[in-house]
Amino acid sequence: MIYLDNAATTKPKQDVLDTFIKVNQSLYFNPNSPHQAGLQAEQLLQQSKRQIKDLFNLDNTFDIIYTSGATESNNIALKGIAYKKKNFANEIITSLLEHPSVLEVVRSLEDEGFIVKYVDVTDEGRIDLNHLQTLMSDNVGLVTCMHVNNIMGQIQPIADIAEIVHQYPKAHLHVDAVQAIGKTPLIFEGVDTLSLSGHKFNGLKGQGILFVRNIHQLEPIVHGGGQEFGVRSGTVNLPMDIAIVKAMKSAVNHTQDLNSRLSEFNNELRQYLVAFRGVEVNSPKGAAAHILNVGLAGVKGEVLVNAFSKNDIMLSTTSACSSKKASLNEVLLAMGIPTKQIEGSIRISMDSYTTEADIETFKEKFKLVYEEVKELLV
Ligand code: PLP
Repeated sequence: MIYLDNAATTKPKQDVLDTFIKVNQSLYFNPNSPHQAGLQAEQLLQQSKRQIKDLFNLDNTFDIIYTSGATESNNIALKGIAYKKKNFANEIITSLLEHPSVLEVVRSLEDEGFIVKYVDVTDEGRIDLNHLQTLMSDNVGLVTCMHVNNIMGQIQPIADIAEIVHQYPKAHLHVDAVQAIGKTPLIFEGVDTLSLSGHKFNGLKGQGILFVRNIHQLEPIVHGGGQEFGVRSGTVNLPMDIAIVKAMKSAVNHTQDLNSRLSEFNNELRQYLVAFRGVEVNSPKGAAAHILNVGLAGVKGEVLVNAFSKNDIMLSTTSACSSKKASLNEVLLAMGIPTKQIEGSIRISMDSYTTEADIETFKEKFKLVYEEVKELLV
């Protein structure tokens, strides 16, 4: 089986699994317990957070909160900020490119009375900085955008966005960097909160991180025992948290190598696929190397996914969350891609386990699938 659905989830690294089991066996204590064993667990917890800060050269204005994944991190950040600012800056800016774990939160905040504005995106799927500038005002309390898009792979100009946002002192910038870590260097300058999910970088499912600059900016949305600065109550999952740091160090330290290897695969696939009549590359130039979205107008994406699946190639239509929904994908629509091309789009996504041999096999199998569907192409 060739696995090319790494934007949905990645294979956990063995040392990450080993760490998870080892800490479960030897340090299963509650870091909040007052005894010696609890203290030991608490020390390890704090040490892991210091290691993360060192990895990214973060100063002490940043705190780290362990969560169950980016969906939770995004919810805690977006609601926490919005609620804190609701009486003096109740406008939120986002784009239609965002993942549902951002868009749906923003929509629910809109139902609660916040004003939501959507910034335009360019044909390349990048935030339109001029439009962002015109939407900004002293009423904006929150701007949220992703670093790397999970469907097309385009990389957002986070530094430029931060510069615009911080012309307005009340505005907070949240970044969903789930698809960025390990694939492109993370940007923290000018960023107030940032979300990650362990299983997207060879960690485990159900582990995530929220980086927060000035923790008091967040109104807690989960109430309980007051763990994690009171913004994420619940007994800390130390084995998960230590395991995610393991995965993170490896991802960050190998970003450059992986990026150059996957860029070669990406270029090779682009050149190969566009030579077939009716095949268009949807991912813009300069997109992250691990994601390649292509459209075969006239064929349904689900038909393609099934055909590849029968040939032992695992890939997806748009994203794992939306591939089961009938509606056209908002991200591709926002970029102005024609409807038929959207309906026939597939996402090939790679990671550190992807090999040259996988790419060669995919190319062979692509020919077979193409032969099956070519009559349908428009
Ligand atoms: N943000 C982006 C860009 C994603 O790709 C995903 C997962 O697909 C998430 C957020 C949510 O992550 P999780 O499902 O691990 O909570």
